[in-house]
Amino acid sequence: MSKRDYYEILGISKSASQEEIKKAYRKQALKYHPDKNPGDKEAEAKFKEAAEAYEVLRDQDKRSRYDRYGHAGVGGASGAGGFGGGMTMEDIFENFGDIFGSAFGGGFGGFSGFGGFGGSRQRGRRVNKGSNLRVKVNLTLKDIAHGVNKKIKVNKYIACDTCGGNGAKDSSSYSNCSTCHGTGQVTKVTSTFLGQMQTTQTCHVCGGEGKIITSKCTKCHGEGIVKDSEVISLDIPAGVAEGMQLSVSGKGNAARRGGVNGDLIVLIQEEKHPDLVRDGNDLIYGLYLNFTEAALGATVQIPTVDGKVKIKIDPGTQPGKILRLRGKGLPEVNGYGKGDLLVNINVWIPKKLSKEEQKTLEQLAGSENFVPQPTADDKNFFERMKNFFE
Ligand SMILES: [Zn+2]
Ligand SMILES: [Zn+2]
Repeated sequence: MSKRDYYEILGISKSASQEEIKKAYRKQALKYHPDKNPGDKEAEAKFKEAAEAYEVLRDQDKRSRYDRYGHAGVGGASGAGGFGGGMTMEDIFENFGDIFGSAFGGGFGGFSGFGGFGGSRQRGRRVNKGSNLRVKVNLTLKDIAHGVNKKIKVNKYIACDTCGGNGAKDSSSYSNCSTCHGTGQVTKVTSTFLGQMQTTQTCHVCGGEGKIITSKCTKCHGEGIVKDSEVISLDIPAGVAEGMQLSVSGKGNAARRGGVNGDLIVLIQEEKHPDLVRDGNDLIYGLYLNFTEAALGATVQIPTVDGKVKIKIDPGTQPGKILRLRGKGLPEVNGYGKGDLLVNINVWIPKKLSKEEQKTLEQLAGSENFVPQPTADDKNFFERMKNFFE
């Protein structure tokens, strides 16, 4: 999927100042904030997209690379390494939370998905992320031709409904972490030859949460998650192919003690069609005519992804001829246009003949029309094959 222009995403001009960029980002982030759009995947995608644009444009160096080389200059669209892989919700709140967080009830504790402890959350606190789940989905060519909705049952961790996912028995089951005094972070001071150096780390006792559960939820034993299953409805777009992966954000495992859900990764597997072979977006069918159908012409049935259709065969059709039924192939996955159905014609020569059939054919063999007289076009076998495989 191609990425949108970063300036376009933020709705600013190429000459926008740093202040304008920040303002524009804040506007987008508030508009698509998950608290305002609960469960809205499109809003979440826009929220992430805006953060990614801001991440690049706020940095002079990255911005100038982006201006010169586009997305390829700042990690590329491939997602391999660097920033190209996109930001997680966790990254966004950690890095930019202070820009838009104040609009949601102080600090950035407002984001409900982070399941912290109300207003006590602090910047830099570690957020648990649930693991991704992988499932395979088998699709027929018909599914692929039209897109399909699949409901699949997935075994996964979900938030514990007894404690609401926080792992505690009730709201009084907490005490402030004595190691970090509730801040979730510990500061270490070390002496070096340059003087004293101060480093801040996530508190290992409370895992950065600042609080310790004194009385655990009995259902999930303090984990905040339980094993269960969920039926997930997947809208699979038309035109997908074997080996493609679709990612459904937030449908993976729930995180321990409140956090961000992992994603559901859907691997596409194609079921073999009994008659049709896929070649990109084209479909190929091998049609066998008998000798008289090829010579006299005929109306025959051929399979398509949507069932059989009738086609006309002209008299004198030669084996090796390819009929192209435009638009009867598969659609492009992310765009417009459709492949074709190529009907590759073979002529079946009988292997056994009755005495009578043999006699009839022997009579015909002498006829002048039965002496092969291929035209230049018919002889051009290699050209045809070349075009076919290109
Ligand atoms: Zn529980
Ligand atoms: Zn602590």
